[in-house]
Amino acid sequence: RPLTSNDLIEEHRICVCVRARPLNKKELSMKDLDVITIPSKDVVMVHEPKQKVDLTRFLENQTFRFDYAFDENSTNQMVYRFTAQPLVETIFERGMATCFAYGQTGSGKTHTMGGDFSGKNQDCSKGIYALSARDVFLMLKKPNYKKLDLQVFATFLKSTVARTSGQTSANAHSSRSHAVFQIILRRRGKMHGKFSLIDLAGNERGADTSSADRQTRLEGAEINKSLLALKSEQINTSAEGFLHWRKLEDLHDCDNSPGMASCENTLNTLRYANRVKEF
Ligand code: ADP
Ligand code: MG
Repeated sequence: RPLTSNDLIEEHRICVCVRARPLNKKELSMKDLDVITIPSKDVVMVHEPKQKVDLTRFLENQTFRFDYAFDENSTNQMVYRFTAQPLVETIFERGMATCFAYGQTGSGKTHTMGGDFSGKNQDCSKGIYALSARDVFLMLKKPNYKKLDLQVFATFLKSTVARTSGQTSANAHSSRSHAVFQIILRRRGKMHGKFSLIDLAGNERGADTSSADRQTRLEGAEINKSLLALKSEQINTSAEGFLHWRKLEDLHDCDNSPGMASCENTLNTLRYANRVKEF
């Protein structure tokens, strides 16, 4: 059954969603196993390849339930509508809101938050940053679409250049930093509301332990530390009942760790997301 507006969650609490991206050409050509199924709008199944002592292979199925599960056919607009869009309204009611994307490198965080930059596509107009900015301007009754998209695009490109200047030996495309896109509403100089959209650094573990580069290893430790800090901040803020957190999970596979390796990362992501649900 497709999602409709009846499925929108009204309560102000942490909403945890999962999005699976389709297998890419390389994964398809390698006949990589799609370890994810989304059987209904809030259920994710992981089929983990395992081997018995007698070497017979089997799949161990694990089921997780979240607020929403978006399958590989979902669009950014669809994800936006059920995650970030309700938060745009929140910031107009004098509030703060945060939406972050968490998952391993290559899982589709930047594609969701920033837009489609694959191949010849250079389109940030369907990223969650631009979709949010557009709705903010609509709420302000200042629709100026074309220019707005260009502004979001310019900001995004500038930050992307800054982000990729430090590349890792483990993965040249790895995101080693968090990217924070903020929309701040001010009224007569005073802050009225703030929306933070965060594209987190890849959560894969041990990706850099083999790195010969000391600086890169240290950065890896820093990233893990900041993920922990984010987590504890999240607990505090939700205890105050002030910030409304939404967590947008992307998952599935990484360009350079197909099969079992990425399955493990996917499971780690889902287990973490499962714990966040309880906050
Ligand atoms: P991350 O930011 O998590 O490291 P990216 O957003 O850069 O991952 O995505 C990795 C690759 O997968 C990119 O080439 C991106 O275009 C592609 N991709 C991600 N999500 C999707 C999707 N939902 N549909 C099609 N391609 C996707
Ligand atoms: Mg990225």
